[in-house]
Amino acid sequence: MRTQIVIIGSGPSGLLLGQLLTGAGIDNVILDRVGKDHILNRVRAGVLEEGTAHLMDQAGAAGRMHAEGLPHDGFSLAFDGRDHRIDLHGLTKGKQVMIYGQTEITRDLMEKREMSDGISIYEATNVEPHGFDGSAPYVTYEKDGLTHRIDCDFIAGCDGFHGISRRSVPERAIRTFEKIYPFGWLGILADVSPVNHELIYANHPHGFALCSMRSKTRSRYYVQCPLDDKIEAWSDDRFWDELRRRLPVHHAEAVKTGPSFEKSIAPLRSFVAEPMRFGRLFLVGDAAHIVPPTGAKGLNLAASDVHYLFTGLNEHYRERSDAGIDAYSSRALSRVWKAVRFSWWMTMMMHRFPDTSEFDQKIQEAELDYLVHSRAASTALAENYVGLPY
Ligand SMILES: Cc1cc2nc3c(=O)[nH]c(=O)nc-3n(C[C@H](O)[C@H](O)[C@H](O)COP(=O)(O)OP(=O)(O)OC[C@H]3O[C@@H](n4cnc5c(N)ncnc54)[C@H](O)[C@@H]3O)c2cc1C
Repeated sequence: MRTQIVIIGSGPSGLLLGQLLTGAGIDNVILDRVGKDHILNRVRAGVLEEGTAHLMDQAGAAGRMHAEGLPHDGFSLAFDGRDHRIDLHGLTKGKQVMIYGQTEITRDLMEKREMSDGISIYEATNVEPHGFDGSAPYVTYEKDGLTHRIDCDFIAGCDGFHGISRRSVPERAIRTFEKIYPFGWLGILADVSPVNHELIYANHPHGFALCSMRSKTRSRYYVQCPLDDKIEAWSDDRFWDELRRRLPVHHAEAVKTGPSFEKSIAPLRSFVAEPMRFGRLFLVGDAAHIVPPTGAKGLNLAASDVHYLFTGLNEHYRERSDAGIDAYSSRALSRVWKAVRFSWWMTMMMHRFPDTSEFDQKIQEAELDYLVHSRAASTALAENYVGLPY
């Protein structure tokens, strides 16, 4: 088989890139090692920057997002028993974020791809990119006991942190930067109405908590926990008690509880691989970088990478110019590092570390107090939270 672009990975970055390319008349094939249902059952991100929402519009897959998503004009920072609203809309001249789950985005993009007869090959094992340092790259994979080969012009590695694309690059050609945080986030989903109409990020001596949501009837809550905690040790009752303990009293009293139907512990990590282009192979999204979820940047960074790469590929085919693909890595990394910094800063400010002393806790509270009472500091937070421009 031959196509113009092989996309490895059918997560949000692969699907979004595939849809933008298809819309521009550029042939592409998506390969994923797992099945469609498996991908649709992953519960992950839920806060979209305006840039991400615009890309969904550009991909022609935003209908349900506009009908069912919840635009938010602000969020709250809770500490020292009180909460303070950050007015995103007022501080950023009218910008918002959109609450719409990654599962829904994935479903909408998959449906759009099916409608446009795009080729996606699921349960493709041993996917391997070849020859990307030359002029004739190709990708091999196995399916139903047979080995297949797809020749192409370019390969987009959209296969997440554990994918094959980054691992295919010779070690001498890539540099990685990493920070591992000494705790995890225990997250649950429950069909109960959210405690607040906007998100609450809470700093508490017992640890961080986040009150988020997927809809007006489905809540997504998190509490910081030790990395080696086991899910079995967290009954629903224990979770609700711990969540309420970490919130200001008026919120704690308003928390509606119910059975959780998803419960998992996610580790927190900052990671960047440089560069993001190796000849005719491009790394996109989590394949190139990971951020802790504090600040809601992971999915949004995947989307901005897609924007830069799509723009470059479109210029290559339409205008016979390689300026965009040559600039891909530096453009993407410049935005990536700013989001890595923001996510690291939010993480350091909001969490209790194993060696956090009473002094450190007071410093965190002083920083938060400054942040919510200084318009300049609140503006810096707000403009990063709604997403820096592309
Ligand atoms: C538990 C968890 C919670 C998260 N919560 C948040 C959050 O609250 N907010 C936020 O902004 N971000 C969050 N993230 C991050 C966000 O989900 C990611 O940034 C986003 O999924 C990145 O999309 P992607 O398409 O680049 O990668 P992925 O979503 O990882 O997709 C990669 C795809 O590649 C496929 N693949 C992998 N290896 C291969 C291979 N060898 N061959 C073929 N296919 C392969 C995978 O099956 C997958 O479908 C979370 C991530 C995790 C893991």
